[in-house]
Amino acid sequence: MSKPDYSWTCPYCRQVATIKPDNVSSYLHTFERNNKLGLLGLYTYATVCPNSKCRDFTIIASLYNAQHTTNGVRVVGEPIIRWDLKPQSSAKPFPDYIPPPIRQDYEEACLICSLSPKASATLSRRCLQGIIRDYWGITKARLVDEIAELKDKIDSTTWQAIDAVRSIGNIGAHMEKDINLIVDVEPQEADLLIRLIEVLLEEWYIRRHERDEHMQKVIAAAQGKASAKNGDNH
Ligand SMILES: [Zn+2]
Repeated sequence: MSKPDYSWTCPYCRQVATIKPDNVSSYLHTFERNNKLGLLGLYTYATVCPNSKCRDFTIIASLYNAQHTTNGVRVVGEPIIRWDLKPQSSAKPFPDYIPPPIRQDYEEACLICSLSPKASATLSRRCLQGIIRDYWGITKARLVDEIAELKDKIDSTTWQAIDAVRSIGNIGAHMEKDINLIVDVEPQEADLLIRLIEVLLEEWYIRRHERDEHMQKVIAAAQGKASAKNGDNH
């Protein structure tokens, strides 16, 4: 099952790459052995990041129904089950320059999201607070007040997203007044909080880092020109 070249974002280095047959490896293991579903195909697919500085890889496995053909066996239809083997969690690996406590809360919120949405939302709230305090330097007694303080500092779309997610994440005055008050959180709601954190990490930390890198390149190039020019004059 070879795919044509396609665009892919590496979950490790986050670069967008064009994946060619050279970058992937796949294997189809078919079995029947009198199992209740009939002939099955377990398809494993490894993708290696072409970025020479990264070269990390992902592995997914998918189980399909399979059919005998004149040439052997082929898989049919959509996967019955799909597993992300590497990376295992839905958590995106974020770069090291994002403070470790923020990344840890985010990763644990992802891990526990379907098992305990309540615990996941609690971690996400703490993570959101950590981001606001670290990135914006806003520290108040309550998260709800910290969020309110953000309103005039950020663009209106980001503000709307935070404000919309705030209500489902139980980020309200009542939450902080009574720590024993536990409001039920649905898995989809906990997931939305996680998605919000991902957007904020990208929009704030990663954008700032990329901008700094670009500016450093411009500065280095300008300095190079200036010293070349000075060299000419001598
Ligand atoms: Zn990569």
